Amino acid sequence: MSAEPYEPEFQQAYNEVYNCLKDSTLFDKKPVYKKVLPVVSVPERIIQFRVTWENDKGEQEVATGFRVQFNSAKGPYKGGLRFHPTVNLSVLKFLGFEQIFKNALTGLSLGGAKGGLCFDPKGRSDSEIRRVCYAFMKELSRHIGQDVDVPAGDIQVGGREIGYLFGAYRHYKNSWEGVLTGKDLNWGGSLIRPEATGYGLIYYTEAMIKYASQGKESFEGKRVVISGSGNVAQYAALKCIELGATVLSLSDSKGSVISETGITAEHIYAIQDGRAAWKTLEQIVGEASVFSGSSVKYIAGARPWVHVGKVDVALPCATQNEVSGAEAEHLVANGVKFVAEGSNMGSTQEAIDVFEGVRLQTASASAPAVWYAPGKASNMGGVAVSGLEMAQNSARVSWTRETVDAELKKIMTTCFDDCVTTAKEYSNESNVEALPSLVKGANLTGFIRVADAMLHQGDVF
Ligand code: NDP
Repeated sequence: MSAEPYEPEFQQAYNEVYNCLKDSTLFDKKPVYKKVLPVVSVPERIIQFRVTWENDKGEQEVATGFRVQFNSAKGPYKGGLRFHPTVNLSVLKFLGFEQIFKNALTGLSLGGAKGGLCFDPKGRSDSEIRRVCYAFMKELSRHIGQDVDVPAGDIQVGGREIGYLFGAYRHYKNSWEGVLTGKDLNWGGSLIRPEATGYGLIYYTEAMIKYASQGKESFEGKRVVISGSGNVAQYAALKCIELGATVLSLSDSKGSVISETGITAEHIYAIQDGRAAWKTLEQIVGEASVFSGSSVKYIAGARPWVHVGKVDVALPCATQNEVSGAEAEHLVANGVKFVAEGSNMGSTQEAIDVFEGVRLQTASASAPAVWYAPGKASNMGGVAVSGLEMAQNSARVSWTRETVDAELKKIMTTCFDDCVTTAKEYSNESNVEALPSLVKGANLTGFIRVADAMLHQGDVF
């Protein structure tokens, strides 16, 4: 018997961590850690609440809001809010569980949480979004605070929504405090926060390329396939272009845009503008003048992975389980060498098995294989800069763009080094010197940090 209903996404996230720990020497070397897993996989607290508001037609609407406060051993709960019709407890528990270990990988003092609303904001007016945010915060404000729980954005929660949520909190609590991150620069936000997840993903991948090629290669000249066209995908793509790579694709939930010669920064700025008006990629490519006569083509109903030719780097940046086993095989056949997730749990377990299988079969210094990085390591730049935003708010200071960017880069490369070192230390693979498993390295590093905090504080005994 279990107290939990069937939660496929959470089970998948749990299994990934469990299998990485089991398939290493960790429990043999330190058996006490075995006691942590059953405790850390139960959230400290789940808050589920009713959110009602008046829509633009004057009708009442109701939706279910959640906050999963998963683990606070390493700091205040921290994790994003998602407004999407697919939000449910299984999805938020998977995201919250991942967030615990991801936040530990930043090296900052952050616990793990996730929340959201089962609601689709697409096509809603600005004033209705404001009413939804105020209604959502009416209940959430009872459970968060700058030293308790500091939410941020996630899918369909960006700068505008963070503004309304922050304003609501300030009014309800009569307190101006750093209770949310992703704020506007004018009132407590941090430079580089909008760019941080995408940029951080590229800094992490850059470290992978450098390590695997022994310093001989970089993003220069690489062909990169990217999914998604939201916050993470946009800034990942812009950084790739800045570093001399060719961005072959972007996508949304309706289809993909593909260009064999490369999507440009101007294309991405047009996509940013179009998305702010809730336009689909199909509409944007059809309407924005920058696309007329360009090499960019739109493919309806398709993810990009099998629609590009030769590829060096694959960056899933849309949503969970967006790379299937068959798509992973296709990417491998087309020459992919580096896969790093901007999205959370972007790859299905079948896809991870394909990438890790190829790494194990062929890894050697002279013939680099496919190297896969899980989102909890490669996309943690967003929460890392959120942590820096919290530090700036506490000190009532604002750091320069250069300072935050340099700090982000340092955090991402340190995380990469930590993943490599830990994977080697606890590996049971024969050829670990070539390409150690980053999925094991990330899960083990994050788990050990959280487990130690829980053991020291008596959460586990
Ligand atoms: P956005 O809402 O800005 O963009 C999401 C993108 O993914 C859109 O292109 C959207 O298309 C697409 N998408 C969403 N759901 C689906 C779906 N079911 N199938 C196909 N495409 C889909 O979100 P973000 O860019 O912020 O987030 C993207 C991913 O990155 C998520 O997994 C998120 O958890 C993760 N992440 C985000 C961080 C951040 O700082 N923002 C930090 C760490 C991870 P459409 O517009 O058509 O819905």
